[in-house]
Parts: sequence; structure tokens; C-alpha cells
Amino acid sequence: ISWCKKTYIQVCTIPGVRITLAVSSGKGGVGKSTTAVNIAAALKLQGAKVGLLDADVYGPNLPQMLGLGQADIQVIHTATGDKFLPLEVQGIKLMSVGLLAEVNRPLAWRGPVLHKIITQFLQDVEWGELDYLLIDLPPGTGDAQITIIQESPICGVILVTTPQQVAIADVRRNIYMFRQVGVPVLGIIENMSYLICGDCGSRTPIFGSGGGEQLAAELQAPLLGQIPIDPYICSGGDIGNPIAIGDRTSPASEVFVKIVTAL
Ligand code: ADP
Repeated sequence: ISWCKKTYIQVCTIPGVRITLAVSSGKGGVGKSTTAVNIAAALKLQGAKVGLLDADVYGPNLPQMLGLGQADIQVIHTATGDKFLPLEVQGIKLMSVGLLAEVNRPLAWRGPVLHKIITQFLQDVEWGELDYLLIDLPPGTGDAQITIIQESPICGVILVTTPQQVAIADVRRNIYMFRQVGVPVLGIIENMSYLICGDCGSRTPIFGSGGGEQLAAELQAPLLGQIPIDPYICSGGDIGNPIAIGDRTSPASEVFVKIVTAL
């Protein structure tokens, strides 16, 4: 029985991988990597085989967010050439640009090199059998991002934003970019939508409200979920314990479960 319920228009061409989903954002710091790691964790908890490709060269945080310390990338020899072996952390297969020594040399990450390394990560990693491969893209709409999404077998993209108007403007550009290159936009996730009071349960929209809904209506893309601000997301992310695993009854975890059920 296939774990993936939905049929995607775009077909994934990576051997053994059924669905490739990109997670993208207009700008850094909106919670894109947090969202990618928690979607992966929530999918894993529901029984899917999941891989995570951390392609965010500007902030390759996924190893830390999953609790992986220093690790060396292993290369194996196969009939179709040398392949990188992903690391397995908390039942999730992980490959990250953060594990490459060059990551501390920003000039090495200009467009063509970035593109080459990411396509190599997509084509030359021995992922094995996966239901979902999630790709955490670098934020923004530059040349590198466009080349990556044009040439990668991405079945759909999930956009992450915070509710305020400046973030919304950036994600609007992001949506146009994906539509221009023919990658289906599966929906928008609004992060840091509100803070829940620990005493009375009331919700305070710290960064404003309505942005995600407005954007979803304007661009006719579904609003997949609104994730609250939760101190555990930050502390859990720092110590390698994503909230979707570490605090499963939290409102934020419930939103992640709802999101993956819709995928
Ligand atoms: P991006 O990938 O967009 O740059 P990150 O996922 O690295 O953003 O998140 C930036 C910071 O904000 C991290 O410290 C993360 O733990 C924190 N964060 C993200 N989402 C939330 C949230 N809903 N509540 C609390 N902290 C959050």
C-alpha cells in the first residue's frame, strides 16, 4: 500500500523516491527549516519513509535541529557510480550542505557551484526507498534558487511565511517564481501566527494577523496551517528535538499533523 494518498502532477525521477516536496520562503528567519524538519517528523510518526535534503546554504541547520553532531559523509561504490550515503537520524534520512567543509566559505557558494552541488545531492545520494523527500531550499528568489527548482524533480512546493506584510510581499514573489517555472504550489504555511497565553489560553497575534489568509485568497493557494509561537519550538530545535516528536500534544504539533494529513 502506498503511503502517499495524493497524486502529484509532477513525477519524481529520483530512483526509489515517490514524492519530492520543496519547502521555501521569501526570506530567512521565518521558520522554513523548522517547518521542514517538523513536517518530516510528523510524516515519519504517521508511518512514512522520509528523507530530508538540507539545501539551505545560508543556514544549514537541519543536522542540529535533528540532534546530529559532527558527522562525515560516507561515499559508497555502486553499479551506477559513487554515491553519497545519507545519515539516519531519528528514523529520518538526512543529507545536508552543512556537512560539507566548504560551507564556511561563502564565496564557494555562488550560483553555479551551489547549483552543481545541489543537483549532485539530488542525483548522487543513495536515498533508498522513500515516500517523501523534503528539500529545504535556500530562501529567496535568486538565480541559484531558480536553477535548482528548474532542474530538480520537485513534485510540489510548500511556502512558509510569517503573518506580517513585509514577509507576505516576499512570499508573493516566491509563488510567482515557482509558477513561472511550472512547479505546483501545494500551499502556504503561516508560522508564528499567534502566542497562546499559558494562563488563560488567549491568542495574541504578535506579528499581526490575516496575512496568510489574505495571500492564500489572492493567489488561490490553500493555507495549509497556522503554527503558533511556542518556546519549545526554539529550544527543541536547538537540542535536536523537533516539537512534532518532543511535545506531541502541543497545539503546534497538532497543526503539523493536520498539514501532513493534507499532503
Ligand atoms: P529559517 O529556516 O526560515 O531561516 P528557522 O526555522 O531557522 O528559520 O527559524 C528561525 C528561528 O526561529 C529558530 O531559532 C527557530 O527555533 C525559531 N522558530 C521558528 N518557528 C518558531 C515558532 N513557531 N515558535 C518559536 N520559535 C520559532
